[in-house]
Amino acid sequence: MSAHEGYKPLQNFLDKFPKISGNTVNGLGEKEERRPSPFFWHPHDRQTHGELQTEVIDYHRQSAEMRKYFSSTPPGGRGPKPIEQSGVQVEKSANDWSALIKQFALDNESDLVGITSMQPMYVYEGYTLDDPWVIIIAVAMNHDELNQAPASFENPTAGAVVAKEYNRASRASRELANFILKQGYYAKAWPGPYASALSMMPAAIAAGIGQLGKHGSLINKTYGSSIRLAAVTTNIPLIADSQEDFGSEDFCLNCQICTKACPPGAISNDKQTVRGVDKWYVDFDKCIPYFGETLACRICIARCPWSKPGTGPRLSEKMLKRRDRLTKTS
Ligand code: SF4
Ligand code: SF4
Repeated sequence: MSAHEGYKPLQNFLDKFPKISGNTVNGLGEKEERRPSPFFWHPHDRQTHGELQTEVIDYHRQSAEMRKYFSSTPPGGRGPKPIEQSGVQVEKSANDWSALIKQFALDNESDLVGITSMQPMYVYEGYTLDDPWVIIIAVAMNHDELNQAPASFENPTAGAVVAKEYNRASRASRELANFILKQGYYAKAWPGPYASALSMMPAAIAAGIGQLGKHGSLINKTYGSSIRLAAVTTNIPLIADSQEDFGSEDFCLNCQICTKACPPGAISNDKQTVRGVDKWYVDFDKCIPYFGETLACRICIARCPWSKPGTGPRLSEKMLKRRDRLTKTS
């Protein structure tokens, strides 16, 4: 029996659903490519699901542990305020800046860093963002803590580790933005989980941080889906990284761990067309009530085999060898 058989959403969340489906807002079934609409984690008044978002956040704040990490002064903080941009621009090659920025990020709380050029599809509708570069930062979560998902008021560990690592990613992005401002270039940090102009996920894929998994989250070759993101946009000269195909897509095609583990059955085994692109897609309307009542759920990313420490590189090698064999025999 699948985990989702018998699951009933809490009425307080159902009551806050607007008439329009979250999947419609996300462009499910739309054949034309377009920019994403502002949605969950956007300001309440710039999206269709603001009341539902407020209900979910208020519910999470009933947990003292979650309140601690989502407060304005969480343990470790959220990073420094922006400094003034220096009037003197330090000159270096794009190659040297890329190497220096990556090293700075890795020395200042980031576990992964990738660079990509800004694309219109990375910017939510209704916003303008002209900075030519996006630097994506990722931080790894403690898998033992994440794997206690789903969280509850009695054991909020899996929810708290997500909130805690968002704060680390926030600090890392703000430190990096200030480092760039000091060199005389523009830079803006984009810490999560709240969003505004920048849609981080497609930029992270292009920057080689990971591939999209069936569970709708990124899979990184080393950390699986046990990561959180933040970003910095800037005009400092940089070189873009490449997207990496390390075989997680091939694995997802034959794996059903997340589809079976998801209590409300929100993960589909088939790709769907979303704003003109065929991709893995999670049913927002099914996911969000369970996400709400379990302090951010995370079962799908915790149970994903790529998230188990030490597993990803081995799986990647196996999948790429298998692909090679299949290509040679076809
Ligand atoms: S659990 Fe399996 S199907 Fe789901 S994202 Fe991970 S590898 Fe893909
Ligand atoms: S986060 Fe959403 S999609 Fe993932 S397991 Fe939980 S309910 Fe399902």
